[in-house]
Amino acid sequence: MTSQSSDGVVRRSIGDTVATQATSSPNVDDNAASTAPAVGAKTELKEAYTQGKRNFEIVSLSSFLLLKAVVLCYLGYHWRMANPIWVLTYMLGGILAADFLSGVVHWLCDSYGSVNMPVFGKAFIRSFREHHVDPTAITRHDVIECNADSCMTMVPVLGFMCYNFALYDDDIIQPRYHLFVLLSWLAFFVAFTNQFHKWSHTYGEVPKWVEVLQDYHVILPKKHHKVHHVAPHATYFCITTGWLNHPLEYIGFWTAIEAGIQLTTGYRAREDDLSWASKPK
Ligand SMILES: [Zn+2]
Ligand SMILES: [Zn+2]
Repeated sequence: MTSQSSDGVVRRSIGDTVATQATSSPNVDDNAASTAPAVGAKTELKEAYTQGKRNFEIVSLSSFLLLKAVVLCYLGYHWRMANPIWVLTYMLGGILAADFLSGVVHWLCDSYGSVNMPVFGKAFIRSFREHHVDPTAITRHDVIECNADSCMTMVPVLGFMCYNFALYDDDIIQPRYHLFVLLSWLAFFVAFTNQFHKWSHTYGEVPKWVEVLQDYHVILPKKHHKVHHVAPHATYFCITTGWLNHPLEYIGFWTAIEAGIQLTTGYRAREDDLSWASKPK
């Protein structure tokens, strides 16, 4: 449920928690900031970004760009003029799948695991914890740090497509072409999810065309993403376009899964995230 009062403040019910949020910027965690100074946590999380992780990111981003270029060449080679409606349909499917995946990965890394987990903790969970205690840190990340992890997740998908294109003739590729169009759009939007996310936190320094895309909700708008940045960060996890946030919130998707996990495993969502939010300077 969402309601807006006369002072321009949106009050949003998340389960039994009422989160209050200003309508402007996602860079201030209104609830958490007042009670949880996080300078110490900011520094600790920033320093956990290692050179090894940086090297891995460079390999991931380079692999993605190379494979994506190869896939585009193959898609062009196998292109047959057909009803443009199906192209748009599969493109839309790819974008929706990317938005949903962004929500699943974001929810998973926000809600479970910890920075102290072997390998995975510092390599991936760290950036999610950092983003909640220091939402503007992402605006200082360069193109590699911002996009490499997302690109890495799509390397197997692009590799699978390259494998098919290289191995099979056109008569076998054609029945699969629709799927490859969908996967290609999925890979593109997943890869640039964190760029869209970064732009939703960036004020005054984004190109005009980006602002237009945000205003028309083609990519994640600032005000829309602000809903996630209200403690306890329990909803609006989709950060590619954000199109699925309203419907998933409406059906209580995340709340239901978290309740099921707690019932079957005993794990409570976001315990580690909350521990970072409460750390002193
Ligand atoms: Zn988050
Ligand atoms: Zn954010």
